[in-house]
Amino acid sequence: SVVVLGSANLDLVYEVDRIPAPGETLLSRGFAAFPGGKGNNQAIATARSGATVRFIVALGQDAAGDRLAAEARRAGISLEDRRTDAPTGTAVIFVDRHGENAIVVDSGANAALTDLTESELASIAAADLLVLQLETPLDTVADAAAAARSSETTVILNAAPSTTVPAGLLGQVDLLIVNEHEAAELAGEPDGTGERLPVAALTGHGCAVIVTLGAEGALVAVPGREPVKVPAIEVEAKDTTGAGDTFVGALAAALDRGTRATDLASLVAATEFATAAAAIAVQRKGAVPSIPTLKEVEEFREH
Ligand code: ADP
Repeated sequence: SVVVLGSANLDLVYEVDRIPAPGETLLSRGFAAFPGGKGNNQAIATARSGATVRFIVALGQDAAGDRLAAEARRAGISLEDRRTDAPTGTAVIFVDRHGENAIVVDSGANAALTDLTESELASIAAADLLVLQLETPLDTVADAAAAARSSETTVILNAAPSTTVPAGLLGQVDLLIVNEHEAAELAGEPDGTGERLPVAALTGHGCAVIVTLGAEGALVAVPGREPVKVPAIEVEAKDTTGAGDTFVGALAAALDRGTRATDLASLVAATEFATAAAAIAVQRKGAVPSIPTLKEVEEFREH
C-alpha cells in the first residue's frame, strides 16, 4: 500500500479579461473552485491508478476542508487528516484571455503539518511506499522519510516545487522524481538543462532518479548505470496542469504492484505506465478531473 504525505488546497480560479493592476477592481467572467495541492493530486492519481492509498494531510476546520476530505474519500482514499486552527490551504488563480495566469497561494493548514503523531508514523511504517513532495514543512518531510527508512518503506520524493532541500534528505530517498528545472536547481546547476542535465550529480546521492521532460518524455537513472529514456506518447495536449502529479501518482501505483523502486528495468516499466497516464491527463482540462483511472490507462495502452 501507499502513504502520501503532503498538501491539499482549494484552488479558486477566476477567469478575467486581464490580470488586475494595483488598485484595480475587475469583474470576473467566470469562477470555479477545484481541489488541488500536490499531495492531494498525487494521492488521487495513486488511488485512480489502482493502489490502496492513505493520505496524511492537514486541513482547516472549514467548508474547504470538508470538501477536500469528501472528494478524497470519494476517490477511495483513506484519509489521515488533522484539522487545524489555520484555514485550509487555498490558491487564488487569475487566468486571462490568453491563458496567462497570476497565482497567490496561502499554505494555511499545510504549514501546520509539523510534529508527526504516533499514528501518522505508524501509517508510514506499515506502508510499502511513501510519496512526499515539498509543499509541507521540510522538517516534516525529512522526519517522514527517516521514519520510512527505518521500517523499510520505500521513499519516493517529488522534489517540487523547486526549493532548497535540507542536507541529508536526498540520502533518505530511494527514488527522486523531478522535472528538468527542478533537477537543475537541486543539483545547484542552474544551466543544467537539455543536454547538460545533471543526472549523475543526482544519482550521486545514492537514489534512483526520474527526470520528467514534458512532451519529450522522461529519463530514468539508477546509480552507476547509463540513464534510459522513455519517450512521451504523442498526443494533442489541451492542458498540462497536473501532468506531473498524475505521473508521480501513477508511477507510485505501478511500483506498489510489486516492482522494486531501485531496479532499472522495473523503474522503466513503471515509467511507461506513468507516461501513458500523463498522456491521457494532458488531453483533458483541469488537474484532478484530468487524472485517469487504471482501466482508462490500460485501454489507452492497448491502442
Ligand atoms: P511538470 O508538469 O511537473 O513540469 P512535465 O511537464 O515534465 O512535468 O510532465 C510530466 C510528464 O507528463 C512527462 O514526463 C510526460 O510523460 C507527460 N507529458 C507532459 N507534457 C506532455 C505532452 N505535451 N504530451 C505528452 N505527454 C506529456
